[in-house]
Amino acid sequence: MTTLHDLNDGAADTFTRMLDGIYEHSPWIAARAADDRPFASLAALKLALQASVARATLDEQLALLRAHPELAGKAAIAGELTAESRGEQASSGLDRCTPDEFAALQSMNSRYNERFGFPFILAVRGPTGQGLTRQAIIATFARRLGNAHADELREALRQVHRIAEIRLNALLGVQLQFGAAVMDGAETLGAISDSADGLTCAYLTPAHVRAAQQIADWMRAAGMAVHIDAVGNVVGRYAAAQAGARTLATGSHYDTVRNGGKYDGRLGILLPLAVVAHLHARGERLPFDLEVVAFAEEEGVRFRSTFLGSSALAGSFDAGVLDAVDADGVMLRDALVRAGHDPAGIGAIARDPAGLLGFIEVHIEQGPVLLERGLPLGVVSAIAGSSRYLVELQGVASHAGTTPMTMRRDAAAAAAEIVLLVEARCSGVDALVGTVGQLEVPHGSVNVIPGACRLSLDIRAADDALRLAAVDDILAGVNQICTRRGIGEKLFKILEIDAVPCAPHLMDALGAAVERQGVPRFDLPSGAGHDAMCMAQVTDVAMLFVRCGNGGISHNPLETMTADDAEIAGQVLLDFLRGLA
Ligand SMILES: [Zn+2]
Repeated sequence: MTTLHDLNDGAADTFTRMLDGIYEHSPWIAARAADDRPFASLAALKLALQASVARATLDEQLALLRAHPELAGKAAIAGELTAESRGEQASSGLDRCTPDEFAALQSMNSRYNERFGFPFILAVRGPTGQGLTRQAIIATFARRLGNAHADELREALRQVHRIAEIRLNALLGVQLQFGAAVMDGAETLGAISDSADGLTCAYLTPAHVRAAQQIADWMRAAGMAVHIDAVGNVVGRYAAAQAGARTLATGSHYDTVRNGGKYDGRLGILLPLAVVAHLHARGERLPFDLEVVAFAEEEGVRFRSTFLGSSALAGSFDAGVLDAVDADGVMLRDALVRAGHDPAGIGAIARDPAGLLGFIEVHIEQGPVLLERGLPLGVVSAIAGSSRYLVELQGVASHAGTTPMTMRRDAAAAAAEIVLLVEARCSGVDALVGTVGQLEVPHGSVNVIPGACRLSLDIRAADDALRLAAVDDILAGVNQICTRRGIGEKLFKILEIDAVPCAPHLMDALGAAVERQGVPRFDLPSGAGHDAMCMAQVTDVAMLFVRCGNGGISHNPLETMTADDAEIAGQVLLDFLRGLA
């Protein structure tokens, strides 16, 4: 078995020879990384090989892509694949395609090649390394055929790096301590759903209650004292070496959006669980109580009210929400009782800030920033604040055929200008984003000039002054557009939440742990809200983001991440916990 030590120690050409076949027919990649030795970790080696490709010319990158065989293509049929490729294609059953599947792959292979000028490349061993199904491969192929050229070039290179990562793991005999357990756990939880197809786990539904039981079972098996609190949070406590210690809390939510992803929220439960199981197996205790909290509700799907789990811990649970009613007319208060909870007990869940050391949340990034930078992890600097408005525009509905263009008061045309204004004002400013997510012409008709239009505004930034300045400009712009067009406007502020900065000492501790894994520290803001926002009301918080695959898509069944990224996140969390006095 080759070791990292062997790779670091030999001559440059020995290093290149040992890595032969990691990148298909492209020994120059290892050769150019040889000077960067010694590598502190496997992660550092992988990053150096990736950097070697990133520094190469476009022609060299294209040559690398073209060195790969088509999936179930001519080379596969002729038996001309490298041993690595043959094994990978067989792991997904690509050598056992039905005639229809084979025909579909051939047709897509030729269309893809014609469109992009290189063969379709997919790490068919998938995010766990165990192999994708043929159906998943064909679906991915069909989806990526629609990508823009530049996007697909980057995606193809990322797939090449993923293939190399899996081959390197095999070469070095890497055993994942945490990654496989996290991915398996996400599959098991992901199969517990309110709907027959896709993953929906809404607050206090039968699937939600079953998911809680499953998490509680895992926590007990990992050596934790477990209880499910009055709001449905599953709380596991791994006791400190000595009694009377303070508590470090970590966790995330186990509810999902409709047809959501398997890792959103759940990663932040499963990863600490795997780390605690590891500590427990070694008989190792920490100098503080570690509490892993699986928050019952964050997404706001069923009762249109978010952060029910973490607000209860933070002591800011709004008791008025108990009267909220779901789409079937079930009151939240009654849903709690039916699930075996006592609504009167929610107030007592609140934590005493004096007993808390802090709160750490591990979460999938839910965006493309880490993916595009080729980094597995990021340290969150702040959770963005947001301003939301509803805008109602009043024009004049009149005949689409008889009203001259100069004599119209078209509410939808004004809305279109507002959409572009939001886009322009929020573009080019780092960490500022603006979105019109709802746009509606009430009672619109094909032959009537829109007399009214309703739209939403959502402006977010990690810096409150930046956000509020953008909001001021946009509202002033809305006013100008409406005045010029003779349109009436009504503005309703729906929400205003300030940004939540992460605690610098916790960020630094996380960042140092990331660097000890041989990965550069990279800080980024979170554009999405997270449970850590609520926990910040009672204690210092920090977040660790893990790279999201598939272009960074989330709140979607396509949400994905790899076992290797989970592994490195687990190593960082373990190192962070051990170092936290
Ligand atoms: Zn989430």
